[in-house]
Amino acid sequence: MQTDTPPSLAAFWMPFTDNRAFKREPRMLGAASGMYYRTLGGQPVLDATAGLWCVNAGHGRKHITDAIRKQAEVLDFAPTFQLGHPKAFELAERLASIMPPGLDHVFFTNSGSEAADTALKMALAYQRARGQAGRMRLIGRERGYHGTNFGGTAVGGIGGNRRAFGAQIWGVDHLGHTYRETDAFTRGQPVTNEDMAGELERLIALHGAETIAAVIVEPVAGSTGVLIPPRGYLQQLRDITRRHGIVLIFDEVITGFGRLGAATAAEAFGVTPDILTCAKGLTNGAVPMGAVVANRAIHDAVVADAEAPGIEFFHGYTYSGHPLAAAAGIAALEVYANDALFARSADLASAWEEAIHGLVSAPGVRDIRTIGLVAGIELESRKDAPGRRALEIFHRCFDEGMLIRVTGDIIALSPPLIVEVDQIVEIRDRLARTIAAVG
Ligand code: PMP
Repeated sequence: MQTDTPPSLAAFWMPFTDNRAFKREPRMLGAASGMYYRTLGGQPVLDATAGLWCVNAGHGRKHITDAIRKQAEVLDFAPTFQLGHPKAFELAERLASIMPPGLDHVFFTNSGSEAADTALKMALAYQRARGQAGRMRLIGRERGYHGTNFGGTAVGGIGGNRRAFGAQIWGVDHLGHTYRETDAFTRGQPVTNEDMAGELERLIALHGAETIAAVIVEPVAGSTGVLIPPRGYLQQLRDITRRHGIVLIFDEVITGFGRLGAATAAEAFGVTPDILTCAKGLTNGAVPMGAVVANRAIHDAVVADAEAPGIEFFHGYTYSGHPLAAAAGIAALEVYANDALFARSADLASAWEEAIHGLVSAPGVRDIRTIGLVAGIELESRKDAPGRRALEIFHRCFDEGMLIRVTGDIIALSPPLIVEVDQIVEIRDRLARTIAAVG
């Protein structure tokens, strides 16, 4: 039982939060272990979302917390500008070793948002380095989420996130999203005759390939409700971008580290981008860290300039490759490997799909989407109050002991990869009860 008294709620302006509503009815977490959070009052809360899609190996992994503690005692901080420390190099090596072949140079950031902006700048630098300075246009996708920094917000496709801040960076365009209502209740990737990726050819014809630097997509859009692209779509994007000299970036902040039953979605789908971003699961959420992994062609074009030796990529963060984050990252990758968690995720996928699709008979469910160990459950909106129903379900689930995530009227589930089959069934049953109770 936690005895801490809650602090005053006055000073903390909470991110992505209805701060007034929170302060009226605060829900505070006090501890976490394995599949469970505990509220400040000591109530267990089954974590059906791995925190914010990040605690893939479950909470409070001793191997990781020990590594962080030990590192803090030996080397608390070290710059990685023109200096280094062994843990950052070791993590880069280990991370590169689980990437698809060819993706072998790692640039560290502190978050997924920083990873997205770093990847976009890297693509621009690459195009300039190879004499294509006219390629400044960036292409994202409707309903894409790439964090909240300027670049990621601009290429992101969430109206609310963009409109709140007026104009964004110049020269951005968007592909249409990949969701079709006609595919409702498909298990895994839909199969369609529609040539969705062909839209990229239309944007290229409109703007000219010589103006386009990069295309960035999430292999499966997570934050906007688990939108799974149809079969062949990612490969088509790969073929078109390659044909036109455009850098293809996969944002794997959610899909990385076993969520889809492999180290990366690139591996799971058999499609390799030029640049891949990750974060969240990289340290099992224990210390903030992101990474951008680039292929050799991009790395070599940007860094190799025999004529003008010096700094080649004017970019980086004080905390790039921070010792505590690097130690946490190494330990997290060790836990994933020792517990074979990516294979476990692949093995559990059919039990997950079977269980979650059992919600088909819950009232007001419009669609259920599952792939790997992730699910999106789309509800009918209340006409007068879109999003209200899902929010009520979220609060009620939490108060009755389970954490889910909602976006609009879509429920997203992504349990830690250590989830047991009976816990999968429990997640489904709790959700079924709560959906029925909220009505
Ligand atoms: N990209 C994707 C695909 C994400 O899901 C997220 C976070 N949900 C981000 C980027 C941003 O990551 P962060 O919150 O660590 O900045």
